[in-house]
Amino acid sequence: MDHKYDLLIIGGGPVGLFAAYFAGMRNANVAIIESLPQLGGQAAALFPEKIVYDVGGIPAIKAKDLIKQQQQQLSLFPPKIFLQTSAQDIQQDEDGDYTVTTDQGVLHARAIIVAIGTGAFSPRRLAFAYDPQLESAGYLNYFVQDLESYRDQDVVVAGGGDSAIDWALALEPIAHQVTIVHRRDQFRGLESSVSKLEQSTIQIKTPFLITQADQAVGKIQLDLKRVKTNEHEILTTDKLLVNYGFTADSRVLRKWGLTLSGPKIKVDTKMATNRPKIYAIGDAITYPGKLDLLAVGYAEAPIAVTTALQTIYPDKIQPVHSTSLFEH
Ligand SMILES: Cc1cc2nc3c(=O)[nH]c(=O)nc-3n(C[C@H](O)[C@H](O)[C@H](O)COP(=O)(O)OP(=O)(O)OC[C@H]3O[C@@H](n4cnc5c(N)ncnc54)[C@H](O)[C@@H]3O)c2cc1C
Repeated sequence: MDHKYDLLIIGGGPVGLFAAYFAGMRNANVAIIESLPQLGGQAAALFPEKIVYDVGGIPAIKAKDLIKQQQQQLSLFPPKIFLQTSAQDIQQDEDGDYTVTTDQGVLHARAIIVAIGTGAFSPRRLAFAYDPQLESAGYLNYFVQDLESYRDQDVVVAGGGDSAIDWALALEPIAHQVTIVHRRDQFRGLESSVSKLEQSTIQIKTPFLITQADQAVGKIQLDLKRVKTNEHEILTTDKLLVNYGFTADSRVLRKWGLTLSGPKIKVDTKMATNRPKIYAIGDAITYPGKLDLLAVGYAEAPIAVTTALQTIYPDKIQPVHSTSLFEH
């Protein structure tokens, strides 16, 4: 992690991704750090199935497909991506550049773009204490890293939203048996996904809550409580995949010495914060007239990147639009 990047983008949401792409077009050496094991911020974590209608040039697109396309776009100028890495501290070095301390080590950069949205996402966990070995040994997961590791396994998916239903449906042809456990009778997913679920071979257990999870000779044993009763059932399975949504934590921001207005970072018209060479964009910021929309964040990204590069490379000619990149 000793390399010094031109730009370190904190936050791999849609706005951070576009900033990385734009910086790549400008030949900058870029890294992104993202607290989750996936990119895409709110769009990927909170509303993957929702159709977005208000991005210029795209009449209608599912949020998850928009993120897929952003990742495709980003692959033209691939930045270094650190997933499951949370920025914790930002210190200015003697030479004016920055060292960012993360929970995985330190990173160095000439300038920083903060694109942390509403804060670092983490999955909402099971609400009871369990042996951490369940996670380290792969019996209990909050994300699917590799669908193949579920092949021919019995899998319990916990949760009732789009993400839980989508994963249950994706696992159905691969796993031996999929069971979905939800604490309400009604699922919160899209009607079309719920219909698919009902027509599938997936076992539906509602209204049940998982109240205990224990290791059981190569398996995980779950205690399921029927909601509003004292009725319990034991379910033993190979893997448990929990999809209870996400929480966002922006408390770390208060340690970064940035001028805030409430939970948001104040920036000027060049996306500059009060600290030299630290810029901020997207839902993390505020200024008069700010809107928390993708289109607005996408517009702030090139402003921040251009300001940052003008500051760290003042002698470099700054192209006005993308085609000028290919003319020089
Ligand atoms: C339900 C819902 C529907 C929406 N629908 C629309 C819509 O139709 N159209 C529209 O334009 N907008 C919509 N929005 C708003 C849109 O999602 C946001 O404007 C957009 O996601 C902002 O992007 P961002 O990259 O600034 O932040 P985010 O999407 O919040 O991404 C920030 C990322 O930074 C990461 N992060 C935070 N802190 C750290 C840290 N310390 N270290 C490392 N990583 C960190 C987070 O994990 C997250 O992945 C919707 C929002 C919601 C909640």
